[in-house]
Amino acid sequence: MENSHGSARVLQFLGEGTSLTCAQLGALLISSASHLITTQFMKSIQFSRFTILLLGALTVGASQLGSNCLAAPDPNWLDHDHERPLPPVVTPGESSTGTQAGKPPSDATVLFDGKDVASWVSMDGSPTKWIARDGYMECVKGSGYVRTLQNFGDCQLHVVWAAPVPAHGEGQGRGNSGVFFGLDRYEIQVLDSFESKTYADGSAGSVYGQYPPLVNASRRPGEWQNYDIIYTAPRFDEAGKVLSRARVTVFLNGVLIQNNVELTGPTSWLQRAPYSPHPVKQPISLQDHGNPVRFRNIWVRELGKPGKKEFTPAVALLESYTGVYGSDNKFEITREGNQLMADLQGIRFVLFAESPTKFFAKTTDVQMEFMSNNQGKVDRLVWSVGEGANTAQKAP
Ligand code: MG
Repeated sequence: MENSHGSARVLQFLGEGTSLTCAQLGALLISSASHLITTQFMKSIQFSRFTILLLGALTVGASQLGSNCLAAPDPNWLDHDHERPLPPVVTPGESSTGTQAGKPPSDATVLFDGKDVASWVSMDGSPTKWIARDGYMECVKGSGYVRTLQNFGDCQLHVVWAAPVPAHGEGQGRGNSGVFFGLDRYEIQVLDSFESKTYADGSAGSVYGQYPPLVNASRRPGEWQNYDIIYTAPRFDEAGKVLSRARVTVFLNGVLIQNNVELTGPTSWLQRAPYSPHPVKQPISLQDHGNPVRFRNIWVRELGKPGKKEFTPAVALLESYTGVYGSDNKFEITREGNQLMADLQGIRFVLFAESPTKFFAKTTDVQMEFMSNNQGKVDRLVWSVGEGANTAQKAP
């Protein structure tokens, strides 16, 4: 109590416009005290024992102030600050049992609630052949991965899955699927590892090819198993250099199996793949490894600052938007994979979808909406940069 009030008073004394951090303030006080002592010596002024004690105390106090403030998790708030906003209220969910699907917490985005696969599509955005029945969704061999329509960056993901019963196959061929972040880059292995051997960094709960799970907490095939995964997306600078790597923490059936491990790059077979830059928010996907693995009760909570929802529309839809729009301020829209790019007067913007027709940029306030004519053909673009609304016709 005493220290935080003391710090606050000193900060008030320095005035509201002061931009010093507490550490800087501590250093400033130490340096002022030392300077004062040195000056006193230089001038050969006799000073009392009391003065020495006072300066000593000031130095120690300043040093403590600096170290105490350094420990503050957020310098914007005092300890126990009564004006600090309280955390949002979330109604907790219910855990799944072997027979009963659990319930998501109130602020979660539900990705599968047992009814249909509406939140999931094939990797190119077309409808998936995975099936939903009796409260679960199941991988259909040869139908390909499924991915979410919505994109997610840092998040808490809950996935309940079950390996086929009776168990079939060996090693990597036994109940193999996977939960991927960053579209299809970073896999948390799904595998029937109950009394079944395979290589360690490929078993259930491994970060595939990188980190074996800490323990094997697998249930029998056919029994429902719970993954709770905390994913932190990697960050890249504008030149594509890695600023921070992807990290994951994983619980399998309530047991910690990955403790905030840092990924070396995308997970891969046979070789170690290097990072390549990508947007923070990407779809989450589930693997088709040829085994009829079942999933249910899938929900996700986005972490960090709330922002616009982002989606990855179907490639065919994105392709229909490409072309040149307008005559004076010409926009050229191109596609790179599942990302649209806008080129305006030589400046290039990456576009992010907030709906199937509305897009925005993140570096400048560019807003775009693609419009269609009566025949459903894309024929114009309504756009703005910071203000207003302009309509640009699509060149034939
Ligand atoms: Mg797999």
